[in-house]
Amino acid sequence: MSNTIGPDTKTWVEVPTNSDFTIHNLPFGIFSQSGKSKRAGIAIGNKVVDLAALYDAGLIDKNAYKKEHFECEVLNPFMKLGKQATSKLRIRIAELLESTNSELRSLPNISDILIDQSAVTMHLPVSVGDYTDFYSSEDHARNVGTMFRDPNNALLPNWKHIPVGYHGRSSSIVISGTPIHRPKGQQKPKDADQPVFGPCKLLDFELEMAFVTFDGKPMGQSISTAEAEDYIFGMVIFNDWSARDIQTWEYVPLGPFLAKNFASSISPWIVTMDALSEYKVAGAKQEPKVFPYLDYDGDKNIDINLEVAIEPEGSAETVVSRSNYRYMYWNYAQQLAHHTINGCPIKAGDMMASGTISGPEPSSYGSMLELSWRGTKPIKMNDGSERKFIQDNDTVIMRAFAEKNGIRIGFGEVRSKLLPAL
Ligand code: CA
Repeated sequence: MSNTIGPDTKTWVEVPTNSDFTIHNLPFGIFSQSGKSKRAGIAIGNKVVDLAALYDAGLIDKNAYKKEHFECEVLNPFMKLGKQATSKLRIRIAELLESTNSELRSLPNISDILIDQSAVTMHLPVSVGDYTDFYSSEDHARNVGTMFRDPNNALLPNWKHIPVGYHGRSSSIVISGTPIHRPKGQQKPKDADQPVFGPCKLLDFELEMAFVTFDGKPMGQSISTAEAEDYIFGMVIFNDWSARDIQTWEYVPLGPFLAKNFASSISPWIVTMDALSEYKVAGAKQEPKVFPYLDYDGDKNIDINLEVAIEPEGSAETVVSRSNYRYMYWNYAQQLAHHTINGCPIKAGDMMASGTISGPEPSSYGSMLELSWRGTKPIKMNDGSERKFIQDNDTVIMRAFAEKNGIRIGFGEVRSKLLPAL
């Protein structure tokens, strides 16, 4: 069975030009509307397909799926079915939405199944069990190493051997639209003898993509780079909020802690690996040669256009960065293979973020730390103001989409407002 939706496929649903949610995408999310419980949906154009209602209408195979897979708080129960069943469901939805198909289109209660996105609230699509953050963009690692250590030895000796990562905190991963409070914590001003305590002064975003996993293998076993895609459901945009001054003071010797775990924001729709498979590209040549367990065949980078904008309170947004997920040095298959090489088990709903995605050009850097070069080069906003880092009441917006041969699939956006410290 093919998991791809052919390039010539058309849908009877109206899809606006430049929509992220074409028939070729069909991402999964969790939504609610007034008076109804949370449920799973698939986005198409400006609509959501209510999968629980579709199930009730008899258009989903009741031998393969249960109502609880769709009328649920999160997608985890559905994801526990694994790659084959989730892929098959998406292909079935594509079939129902295809131009010549009338099974769904002809139903008298279609307005209960195909709902306006403007009428629903989106929720966190998965209960995130464990969250891991990698550090896999070479340009980002070089920029940070240059700024904080030594331009001549910007990469630490392990960087080209290990997809470096750390375990983050899942409790503070929130959905797009959730406001974030500026965190408080300890900082040590450059010329001071002693640390001070107070609201973070150098609040930053990190432009990342994250993949969401299926259940893995039993503890003790590993997932190879060749198997990785069988264990990944899809991806979201990931804003890994970072408090740079707290980070600088706390990160030695065990790495980031309170500078990172106060919030990370994600986009609501999980774009499947099946949909993204059409946008694969070759990654960077890896030199020195990696260990065999990190070696891989085929293209494992993905051409996803990324953009970050800052919207000051009461003003129009300014795009401050344009990057691309293809710039990753370590790809998702290597990240998952590395994560499990010691036998660490993964579960449905685990989230693994890429690390800040910076490109080679200054305009493609994925954090304010790099864009403003540690505050030395303020970024001009359209309203005349300047930003070195994020100010109170700024809204940070990240968008992502892939496009090839006139076919576009996208992630929508993750949008979050920074409120003052409590
Ligand atoms: Ca990060």
